[in-house]
Amino acid sequence: MSNQLLPSIESIIKASKELFKQTVEITQKSSIPDTQDIPIANPKKWLRIEDVICIFVDMKGSTLLSASKHDKSTASAYQLYTGTGVKIFHSFESPYIDVRGDGVLALFDSDKAHTALAAAVTFKTFANTVFKSLVSDKTELDIGSHMGIDIKTLLVKKIGLKSINGRTDRNNEVWAGRPVNMAAKLSSLSNDNELLISDRFFKKLKSDAALRTCGCPNDEKVNLWEEKDLSDDDRFDFNKAYSLGSNWCTKHGKEYCQILLDFDTE
Ligand SMILES: [Zn+2]
Repeated sequence: MSNQLLPSIESIIKASKELFKQTVEITQKSSIPDTQDIPIANPKKWLRIEDVICIFVDMKGSTLLSASKHDKSTASAYQLYTGTGVKIFHSFESPYIDVRGDGVLALFDSDKAHTALAAAVTFKTFANTVFKSLVSDKTELDIGSHMGIDIKTLLVKKIGLKSINGRTDRNNEVWAGRPVNMAAKLSSLSNDNELLISDRFFKKLKSDAALRTCGCPNDEKVNLWEEKDLSDDDRFDFNKAYSLGSNWCTKHGKEYCQILLDFDTE
């Protein structure tokens, strides 16, 4: 017997090793399940969902905010950014939303690509027109926002302790698979007020309203997206991304948002 670990920890690790050897049981789902239906009790039981759209948004420059130096404005900035993010993605009926650090993860099913884009551009417009100026008025700090979107297969289950000594907060949904990571990496690669999407998400965009501008200001419709070569960047499992710098047009934003939402329901 080694003296390295407490006996209580030894037994935890022993049980984990046993579990690791057992075969996992994966159930295919056709859409993102309700959070309450994501399994927890059986540690071997996972769900698998194909082509999940993952949007990741986070603040750019949030390390400038400090809980010790300017605690009140830091607290307000987090509330404004992530709190509004959750509400916006909820209003676009994202089936799963989670707060992650100084950002928000929102998932959509594969047949909701245009809805996901509409939600992303709406949040982007809020971040660039409202969040940024309110925070800089209050703190004189330049805090921005950036975001990424990817789509691919995910596995999900809740991992942790279901209920222990009356507490139920020791578990969380774990989304295992590439797209959550890729969306977060695309976000971190992007500039302030930039949305970067993987080419496999770009291929899901079919509506002209998702691909070309409304024509403002000089009645000329141009491509919204700029190609970005990622073939030399081994953090990504795709070679190309597409970048969007613009927000909703002040004249046509509402109308274009509705066109995107209608496209997914037709
Ligand atoms: Zn316009």
